[in-house]
Amino acid sequence: MGKSANNMSVALFGGTFNPIHFGHLNLASELADYLQVESVRMLPCAIPAHRETPNISAEQRLAMLELAIDGNPSLVADDLELKRGDTSYSIDTVGYIRQAIGLQTPLFFCIGMDALLSIHSWHRWTELLDYCHIVACSRPDYELPSNGVVAKWIDQHLCNDLTQVKKQSHGCLHLCKIPLLDISSTAIRDNIKYEKNIDHMTSESVVNYIKQHSLYE
Ligand code: ATP
Ligand code: MG
Repeated sequence: MGKSANNMSVALFGGTFNPIHFGHLNLASELADYLQVESVRMLPCAIPAHRETPNISAEQRLAMLELAIDGNPSLVADDLELKRGDTSYSIDTVGYIRQAIGLQTPLFFCIGMDALLSIHSWHRWTELLDYCHIVACSRPDYELPSNGVVAKWIDQHLCNDLTQVKKQSHGCLHLCKIPLLDISSTAIRDNIKYEKNIDHMTSESVVNYIKQHSLYE
């Protein structure tokens, strides 16, 4: 299916993005291509549900995201969760977007494999597929669980054929083998703390923003 035939689909990629890095950017760009969507909407969370609130502001995380995607037409910053404020639950986000786009449009919620492995800790996680497809991408060192609730859920919803997935608006878990770069926001924050270089980990504009605002020191 060509891009024009499928450009109504919507793809979301959420995260704390504290800060955004080449791993996120590379994956989101590859996903736009792979899913043949016009753009991937990148959503920084307001208050993350499963971790400490970041010690920089949501506005700063959004500002860095905007700098990083500047000039890349396949990536769009979406402040939906930031505007909502409060704890960002993915179920609320996909529910809201499903209402906005109607019942027929395929909606892809894209996550990394680390997120998939802990998905059973997410608020109302079993309802997510009522609103969207989940596309999970592997990091180099992750494997699928072989038992437990997530393994069972994966078994029930796995659909490897992307063409089949696209024929439905929601309901499938699709695993995709886009290789993930070995970069994390944690490693960036640690490098800054220990006065190591981060130039190879995120865009020059983000590196400059971090320096200007003395973030993560
Ligand atoms: P932290 O180290 O603070 O947890 P992170 O680098 O894991 O940060 P997050 O904001 O937690 O980034 O993750 C947002 C989304 O990006 C998640 O779905 C996660 O699985 C995915 N992700 C994380 N690291 C990478 C990477 N290197 N490449 C692609 N996707 C990634
Ligand atoms: Mg993470």
